[in-house]
Amino acid sequence: MHLSEIHNIIKGTVLKNELMSKHTSYGIGGKVLAYIRPYDRYELIKIIKLINENNSKLYFVGSGSNLLVNDKKINAYIITPSKALKSFSIENNVIMAESGVMLGKIVKEAIKHNLTGLESLVGVPGTLGGALMMNAGAWGAEISNYLVSVEVITYNGRIKTLYPKDIEFNYRYSSFKSNEFILSAKFKLTKATDEEIKSKKLIASKGRISSQPLKFRSAGSVFKNPHSRLAAGLLIDKAGLKGTKRGGAEISEHHANFFINHGNAKAADIANLIRLSRKTIYEKFGVMLELEIKTIGFNKSELYPYA
Ligand SMILES: Cc1cc2nc3c(=O)[nH]c(=O)nc-3n(C[C@H](O)[C@H](O)[C@H](O)COP(=O)(O)OP(=O)(O)OC[C@H]3O[C@@H](n4cnc5c(N)ncnc54)[C@H](O)[C@@H]3O)c2cc1C
Repeated sequence: MHLSEIHNIIKGTVLKNELMSKHTSYGIGGKVLAYIRPYDRYELIKIIKLINENNSKLYFVGSGSNLLVNDKKINAYIITPSKALKSFSIENNVIMAESGVMLGKIVKEAIKHNLTGLESLVGVPGTLGGALMMNAGAWGAEISNYLVSVEVITYNGRIKTLYPKDIEFNYRYSSFKSNEFILSAKFKLTKATDEEIKSKKLIASKGRISSQPLKFRSAGSVFKNPHSRLAAGLLIDKAGLKGTKRGGAEISEHHANFFINHGNAKAADIANLIRLSRKTIYEKFGVMLELEIKTIGFNKSELYPYA
């Protein structure tokens, strides 16, 4: 079967020549061959196998809240669990969720069941799959802290269970393979009082509202902090780059590590600000910033100043 006929064999959604700008929090991104939302895990396995057997380029995307996609045509298929793989349960302090469940729902349900651990992640956008891949964290908590196990689908369509000992997690880093799909995960939390949970949640949500430019489209922090006592945003601020604009994109005045889209920003505008920040900070402070956001469809020279 030719891949262009994929819609004939599945019940899920296949959006051909879909603009990725519709599926990223930046609102930026060109056309892909197809944006595919499988009906269930069995269909997902079938699609992954088929695309890989055809040696076609494949990316997994959650809700695109940590993603910069180029504007040019991208010769790849996208599979997302978003709005599709949403099975969820809580039993005996153990949460089980499929990767399309929004992190916000998991946090809300944990709080409702008086389970502590995830409340500091309130307000982090995205799906569970994206949160695990990125080891999402906020105000001292990381999603990996409470992990019991993860199911992934391998390149050749096999479901494999991984345990924390099998995966390396670090600050905004996980060792999941980029060709394996995160299917579901289990977390074990502990009971706490309403007051304890609510006070941690309040600290996190107040902090987020006061420190982040939440009115504008962004993908959160663009760069990783070079280390725990040196914020990338501080370096960008010290370099005098806050408020710098390229086309419709701007380095936020509110939080220098957030690059915002005023509505008409192109991928090249954000890439331009990335190169400028890297070059300026390297020349002023001798630090080459590492991207936290993930990118699709760029050459190295579009994102590095000296490439
Ligand atoms: C306003 C704002 C605030 C933010 N604040 C924070 C914060 O406080 N802390 C924080 O950690 N992040 C923050 N982020 C970044 C972002 O929300 C997180 O990284 C989030 O976990 C990404 O989830 P996603 O579903 O949108 O993933 P995507 O952006 O779609 O993807 C991210 C990565 O995960 C991979 N991926 C996604 N789903 C799967 C899957 N099922 N299987 C395999 N790989 C997959 C993608 O290939 C990509 O490499 C913020 C973003 C915004 C816009």
